[in-house]
Amino acid sequence: MLNVPSQAFPAPGSQQRVASQGRSKVPLKQGRSLMDWIRLTKSGKDLTGLKGRLIDITEEELKTHNKKDDCWICIRGLVYNVSPYMEYHPGGEDELMRAAGADGTDLFNEVHRWVNYESMLKECLVGRMAVKPAVPKGMLSKSQVTDTLPREGPSSPSYDWFQTESSVTIAIYTKQKNINLDSVMVDLQGDSLRAETFIQDHSYLVHIGLSHEVQENFSVRVIENVGKVDIVLQKRENISWKCLGQPLEKHDSFIPKKDTGLSYRRCQLISKEDVTHDTRLFCLMLPSSTHLQVPVGHHVYLKLSVTGAEIVKPYTPVSASLLSGFREPVPPPNKYIYFLIKIYPDGLFTPELDRLQIGDFVSVSSPEGNFKLSKLQEVEDLFLLAAGTGFTPMVNVLNYALTCMSSLRKVKLMFFNKTEDDIIWRCELEKLAFKDKRFDTEFVLSAPSPEWNGKQGHVSPALLSEFLQRSLENSRVFLCICGPTPFTDEGVRLLHDLNFSNDEIHGFTA
Ligand code: FAD
Ligand code: NAD
Repeated sequence: MLNVPSQAFPAPGSQQRVASQGRSKVPLKQGRSLMDWIRLTKSGKDLTGLKGRLIDITEEELKTHNKKDDCWICIRGLVYNVSPYMEYHPGGEDELMRAAGADGTDLFNEVHRWVNYESMLKECLVGRMAVKPAVPKGMLSKSQVTDTLPREGPSSPSYDWFQTESSVTIAIYTKQKNINLDSVMVDLQGDSLRAETFIQDHSYLVHIGLSHEVQENFSVRVIENVGKVDIVLQKRENISWKCLGQPLEKHDSFIPKKDTGLSYRRCQLISKEDVTHDTRLFCLMLPSSTHLQVPVGHHVYLKLSVTGAEIVKPYTPVSASLLSGFREPVPPPNKYIYFLIKIYPDGLFTPELDRLQIGDFVSVSSPEGNFKLSKLQEVEDLFLLAAGTGFTPMVNVLNYALTCMSSLRKVKLMFFNKTEDDIIWRCELEKLAFKDKRFDTEFVLSAPSPEWNGKQGHVSPALLSEFLQRSLENSRVFLCICGPTPFTDEGVRLLHDLNFSNDEIHGFTA
């Protein structure tokens, strides 16, 4: 890797030598303070020009980015485009330019050691140096890095592995910034490790027969701003591994998600609770050797074997409750998946599911779905239209909106059911509306009792235009709709008639 010799810095005559103690600061232009920089980094502006993609950079490539308006610097193996930061740098542009197109690690260590540059510059991260990273102290060297670039879609990820006396870490370099714990699914069965990472609409698979035994429990970490996933396995015996293991089926493949099959793991039924006369809350426990988190708005398939035949149906996980703190004791996160499922007495799958005893097993697939959380960015008014169990995807969307969307002003649910007895979590919805003034809910019944004095009927122009009132005239809106197919189709048609665009609507369909 390129290194700017440390003795060359600060250069004779530089502002830092002029100052008797440490470095001097240069006056910054107005609007270029640290706070201004933080504001800029949080504005969502693309500061690398790569639209969130992370790339591998060769020394040759790095060298070419050596001008003020195109200045890349490598710090501890990671490459940053510091051009947008030039005017905000308290030490001045000239000091930054000393490391332009080069490895500025030594320079940085001398002058900025105390600065949290990873956080300051995270929006400027371009990628990492395409050389094999140095093996950290205490780890034994051994690696396999692949790097093939597909012609279209995201760059192909690669993986590497390291070991200490007691652990083995498999590091997956996704080359994408917006990776989180939902993006990774890991199953460890005996010596077989299967790790699938979802990157945009693609799937990257690490599938290995491990060379030595490991313990059942492992941990998964995601370093979001670097797009790196670490799977940390614990060795059964503290011996040095000479190789990670043997490649298994489709190992190291990177293919469109639609071309991958579903993978299943057996989960145990932990509890079953009546929510309405025909709908129950099922709690399933994932095996301890599985890491699986279903992204907001996505679903999984449940599979049961009934007299030798396998039956599979899709279901959308929900949170255990709409109101945290209502259920005690709170189980540890990520080990349990909850489902609200309506039992149809004459249905194929749900009566079988309902017959399961606590402790029985049901297979749960990898997640699927095309809902994109990025659609909710900067949304101010969120409208949710649900019918019957079409409420299920709304649960996590609603939780996400109220906890993570800083732009949100209002979220409204219009919930269509046949009768009052069919309304799922009515009490929780009412309590939530009372607790959080941004949330409001309206119930519409298609077959109400004579006592019902609320709204009635099917989805209609009159109901929608009254419901879809923006909090401000030009507020940014988004609408989600889910229910029986005729309901969703009719709803989407009416929303188009009301001049909402496809970009503003997500219809959950099969
Ligand atoms: P089915 O055998 O499918 O029968 C259901 C009902 O339809 C019965 O009353 C049956 O008599 C009737 N029926 C079946 N075939 C016909 C026919 N040809 N003509 C007329 N009527 C017929 N459901 C939930 O409860 N919770 C969820 O979280 C959930 N998430 C879903 C997510 C997705 C992406 C999708 C597509 C569906 C989801 N569903 C959910 C619905 C679920 O997948 C099943 O369709 C539902 O549980 C019924 O399954 P079943 O096999 O028991 O009933
Ligand atoms: P339901 O029969 O109890 O009906 C609920 C409401 O839907 C009715 O009160 C009515 O207002 C409306 N509705 C029903 N039929 C309609 C029609 N033909 N035209 C207009 N509106 C109509 O509903 P349910 O038994 O709970 O079924 C829920 C449906 O939602 C299922 O078909 C299920 O597959 C679907 N679902 C889909 C997803 C997904 O992500 N795609 C998730 C969960 C549920």
